[in-house]
Amino acid sequence: MKTKCLIVGSGPAGYTAAIYTSRANLSPILYEGMQPGGQLTTTTEVENFPGYPEGITGPELMEDLRKQALRFGTDIRTGLIVKADFSKRPFVLTADSGDIIEAETVIISTGATARYLGLPDEEKFKGLGVSACATCDGFFYRGKTVAVVGGGDTACEEALYLSNLAKKVYMIVRKDYLRASKVMQERVLKKENITVLFNCNTAALFGSDVLEGAKIVEHKGTAKEQIFDISIDGFFLAIGHTPNTAVFEGQIKLDKEGFIVTKGDTTETNIPGVFAAGDVADPRYRQAISAAGTGCRAALDAERFLNEN
Ligand code: NDP
Repeated sequence: MKTKCLIVGSGPAGYTAAIYTSRANLSPILYEGMQPGGQLTTTTEVENFPGYPEGITGPELMEDLRKQALRFGTDIRTGLIVKADFSKRPFVLTADSGDIIEAETVIISTGATARYLGLPDEEKFKGLGVSACATCDGFFYRGKTVAVVGGGDTACEEALYLSNLAKKVYMIVRKDYLRASKVMQERVLKKENITVLFNCNTAALFGSDVLEGAKIVEHKGTAKEQIFDISIDGFFLAIGHTPNTAVFEGQIKLDKEGFIVTKGDTTETNIPGVFAAGDVADPRYRQAISAAGTGCRAALDAERFLNEN
């Protein structure tokens, strides 16, 4: 099967790229991936996507974007791309169904996945106290006690957000300092209901049905090591995101964290004809609207590339 444009991934970036490339008559094929609609489908209310003055749920927003892509003729397919060969054009990609697609251009918008610590208890309490998105789930912890793991800008942002809802917020930070920007550090340290637990790691979570607490190890592996429990209702991970690029490893230039490297202010990768949009190439902003913006840019870049080649 041949296409002028293959879009891999179906978050705001992928669907926006699909809307633009369809309207430009490129007849794109879009593979939805493991989580159709992407990370937003796991959130509740989205209040910061322009155009929805009353807010909209994440799944509804993604369904609207999907319908808009379908309206202009995007060939949306369920399934994953499991192999990519960018060594020559047309590029050859293989889907999990076994279908082989020859694409003149490829837009990669496979997104990123929140990192977890890897504790077995995280899985057990997922949705029952464990979350990787304070802005999605914070609402459920009004007046309660929660912990945020991590010391970067995301962790500080999440802790501050939660501190306006919850009674008390712990930050569990493995080093003796916060990695976040100065201004975020100051805000966190000034906030009365946030307590930063420096030099601390989480050893385990506990609770009978729902989360009730965490076992914390301070100064792990040193003479000062201490173990204590904190009572919490919510445990929020903010230790970074892993870009979904495993399938493109060795085919395209990635940074040391695995994010796709794009050229300057464009969505071009090191392979002419392959473009990247959304969180897969964005360790910094990671917003639905910024992902949609780069999806638009990738579509325009792909269209221009086809015109010139
Ligand atoms: P970062 O990589 O900056 O921070 C991750 C944090 O998690 C670090 O404190 C790190 O600890 C900690 N961590 C990582 N793994 C573990 C682990 N296994 N156990 C315990 N702690 C762990 O990620 P962010 O998501 O915070 O930020 C990503 C990028 O986005 C940054 O460039 C940031 O500046 C930017 N950003 C900017 C914002 C803004 O400007 N408003 C908002 C949000 C993000 P350690 O320090 O010890 O490595």
